[in-house]
Amino acid sequence: MYVVGTPIGHLGELSARAVAALRAADLIACEDTRETSRLARHLGLRAPLIAVHEHNERAGAARLIAALAAGRRVALVSDAGTPAVSDPGARVVRAVQDAGYRVVPVSGPSAAIVALSASGLLDAQFRFVGFLPVKAAARRRALDSLRDHDCALVFYEAPHRIVECVADIAAVMQAERELVIARELTKLFEQIVRLPVAEAPAWLAADANRQRGEFVLLLAGAPQQDGLDAVAQRTLDVLLDELPPSRAVKVAQHITGAPRKLLYDYAMAHGVAATQQDDTE
Ligand code: SAM
Repeated sequence: MYVVGTPIGHLGELSARAVAALRAADLIACEDTRETSRLARHLGLRAPLIAVHEHNERAGAARLIAALAAGRRVALVSDAGTPAVSDPGARVVRAVQDAGYRVVPVSGPSAAIVALSASGLLDAQFRFVGFLPVKAAARRRALDSLRDHDCALVFYEAPHRIVECVADIAAVMQAERELVIARELTKLFEQIVRLPVAEAPAWLAADANRQRGEFVLLLAGAPQQDGLDAVAQRTLDVLLDELPPSRAVKVAQHITGAPRKLLYDYAMAHGVAATQQDDTE
């Protein structure tokens, strides 16, 4: 089964290999047949399209396995971009592999990676979050749990929630962090802006057109204090409550992989202060 990446906007993103895989397919599994029939018309594909989406992935997989068993060539696509990335496909891939068939990726664009490539963010690492919870309280909780990560965060968001989502990011995250709003990538009204997160709600509100289309949001990693990232700091704080400083540093280094000198300096500055405070109490 060929897992084929399709354009997130510009049709020129369709690779020659993707076209060949789709033309060679006897059966194409897609998320929404109306969506993929446009691509099928564009390429003059004749293979039947069957809908395999999140509500019927198990049954869909069984149909695809039966087709593979009958010697037919099968391709899997989603509405746009890379299947199984915030899209259906993962269960089908797994079922097909478990049934003993080879799954061949035919790479194409994914909005997260496309956005990262033109974001201007300098973080060496990123965490793909995808869609945040829809309900405000759950979304804020999710953002809170991500607040101190020192890697860039990558979110997908729908246009009807972009204003509230950006407002929550601005409310929860450190004001000086940079937010990149990447809109309508590879399409006519593509827009990519990078600005301090505190300014993002006003930027969106300034023009209703800025709230239209498809969005990737990218947030630069959390600022680091004392050269130690927030997770390492918190780990060391907890250990310093329980262990002598030298032992706490050793264990924290083992857990977090942070440099010993940074951990030691932090322990001296914070652990010793805490001990002094304990002594005076
Ligand atoms: N599987 C797809 C991929 O690989 O990127 C993602 C599918 S997910 C259901 C759709 C979301 O991807 C949109 O809501 C938006 O957040 C993002 N997205 C897709 N195309 C985009 C584009 N052209 N510009 C900006 N974001 C896009």
